[in-house]
Amino acid sequence: ATPTAVMVSTGVGASNGVLIKGGDALERAQKIKYVIFDKTGTLTQGKATVTDAKVFTGMDRGQFLTLVASAEANSEHPLGKAILEYARHFHFFDQSSGATKDGKNYSIETKYPGWLLDVSDFSAVPGKGVKCFTDGKQVLVGNRKLLTESGVVIPNHAENFVVELEESAKTGILVAYNNVLIGVIGIADPLKREATVVIEGLKKMGVCPVMVTGDNWRTARAVAKEVGIQDVRAEVMPAGKADVIHSFQKGGSVVAMVGDGINDSPALAAADVGMAIGAGTDIAIEAADFVLMRNNLEDVITAIDLSRKTFSRIR
Ligand code: ADP
Ligand code: MG
Repeated sequence: ATPTAVMVSTGVGASNGVLIKGGDALERAQKIKYVIFDKTGTLTQGKATVTDAKVFTGMDRGQFLTLVASAEANSEHPLGKAILEYARHFHFFDQSSGATKDGKNYSIETKYPGWLLDVSDFSAVPGKGVKCFTDGKQVLVGNRKLLTESGVVIPNHAENFVVELEESAKTGILVAYNNVLIGVIGIADPLKREATVVIEGLKKMGVCPVMVTGDNWRTARAVAKEVGIQDVRAEVMPAGKADVIHSFQKGGSVVAMVGDGINDSPALAAADVGMAIGAGTDIAIEAADFVLMRNNLEDVITAIDLSRKTFSRIR
């Protein structure tokens, strides 16, 4: 392709909301063999919503939600934000009418009246959850790894409930207080509407789709099955996503990564073609070669098509 053809294609991409950062990446895209998709926020909408909250001890539901929300209050993670939002709603909104209990109007900008507990020693454990102390007692909110590492025993009834959530493609978050498991929260994050069609389309083009996630195997498999992806890598710690890319590159295959999170940026940089979701974090956008400004996965296909057309043109 001539420099002019590349320039024209870059313009065509831009007018379709696909920002192409260089002619080299555009050229590599025609040969993509594997597209590795991040799960949360890439294949899914990234709009996590609490669907279940089960308390196993005598603790009152309101107290339980306050405790969990207090632990997540400093979390940047979408799961943490979903939990905080759910607890706020429980406390400040009437469950049947949807109106605020005190008749006041709480906009997103308005601070809710103080209701969270004072916590100390907050820490976010990447790929696992959050930890903190309140009233001298430790609170753990996260996955099995986070709890078992601290010596918390997960009783059968709790494990069974988590498995049930995971089999229906939800994420089960475990809560321990003072080293005792006290409850489980279920969170759902629906697939993007176009996800299934895009996966099917890629297969038809001879491209193999793969899913990579920090989430657990059972949820990952359930989501992958829903979207039509056969090859899944789950429970991948943030640092491990780039290793997954390298493993697919062995033998010289051209590998693309599609992601949105800070966690994804090493993998976006490691890939032959990194594609960031426009609504994703700045760090992901910086690390990528392509930016999908419409946040629509169909543009993964648009980008590959554009590359194929640009570089197969006989002049
Ligand atoms: P992904 O690759 O899907 O974006 P992450 O690596 O961010 O996933 O997180 C992996 C898992 O760690 C989550 O599925 C969840 O179980 C747990 N986790 C991470 N952050 C939190 C949090 N703030 N609260 C509860 N659980 C969390
Ligand atoms: Mg993500």
